[in-house]
Amino acid sequence: MTTIIDGKAFADRLCDRLAGEVAVLKAEHDLEPGIAVVLVGDDPASNVYVTNKVRRCHQLGIASKELRLPTTTTQDELLARIDVLNADPSVHGILVQLPLPAQIDEHAVIDAIDPAKDVDGFHVQNVGALSLGRDGLVPCTPLGASMLLEDHLGDLSGLHAVIIGRSNIVGKPMAALLLRKHCTVTVAHSRTRDLPDLCRQADILVAAVGRPHFVQGDWVKAGATVIDVGINRIETDGKRRLVGDVDFDAASRHAGAITPVPGGVGPMTIACLMFNTVAAARRARGL
Ligand code: NAD
Repeated sequence: MTTIIDGKAFADRLCDRLAGEVAVLKAEHDLEPGIAVVLVGDDPASNVYVTNKVRRCHQLGIASKELRLPTTTTQDELLARIDVLNADPSVHGILVQLPLPAQIDEHAVIDAIDPAKDVDGFHVQNVGALSLGRDGLVPCTPLGASMLLEDHLGDLSGLHAVIIGRSNIVGKPMAALLLRKHCTVTVAHSRTRDLPDLCRQADILVAAVGRPHFVQGDWVKAGATVIDVGINRIETDGKRRLVGDVDFDAASRHAGAITPVPGGVGPMTIACLMFNTVAAARRARGL
């Protein structure tokens, strides 16, 4: 029997715990964690992500500022906004929703965010801290995925983790996190040879590819734990739905445990954004 790892339930529990922490920070330290979410342009998917993030903030008692800027915003204008947020003591976290319009250099924007407020964990200083095993802010999606793994498996030490995908947002930080947890880590990508064979060696298989049903059932070792990060919108029989990067039904016949899509890693991403915001607020106050 495969265990379905319920990311939504875990994310709800984490958010309940964080709401309690926020209440204590307000009552005992007069500290209200705050985040600023910046959206440039009117990309519909980004719009939904920003709305969901702000809604979660309200549920937890985290203060949120929404900056919705026009598609025509210049890089200098955005950098000036970030300077203001960096200097604002009521803002502990700054999130600039990606992707940005073509006239704006994403790296310049990420570099401009105060690393102590970089709740996405994308600033080079936080990337470096993660890779050196030092304190810093960790990207939300791999952080959430690693929480699910530890909750399900306990000690990850010595397990072979195969991560498919080497993006800066998911694959690479996931590899760094699992190395920290003493896994033996293999990172596979579009040039990897014999991918199915490699996957069959994995105790932990993480798929972050962006292709619907890419990972086949017979790529999964019996009893392996499968973490499906993919979020793909497909249309079948005239109906639109979300599917992951793993052929869920086929993989479930082999896996010991597997995350569904939706309801697996997805809800953990926003929960970990809240986690990072509370952590950033605490650190700002030296708590
Ligand atoms: P990306 O496009 O930046 O990276 C995809 C990676 O897959 C690349 O490193 C590439 O080398 C690898 N790849 C592509 N084709 C391959 C192949 N044939 N064989 C092996 N590797 C191959 O994507 P990303 O930003 O890392 O996102 C990956 C998926 O995760 C997407 O579906 C995205 O929507 C989803 N995602 C989900 C969340 C969440 O909250 N759950 C967050 C971020 C991304």
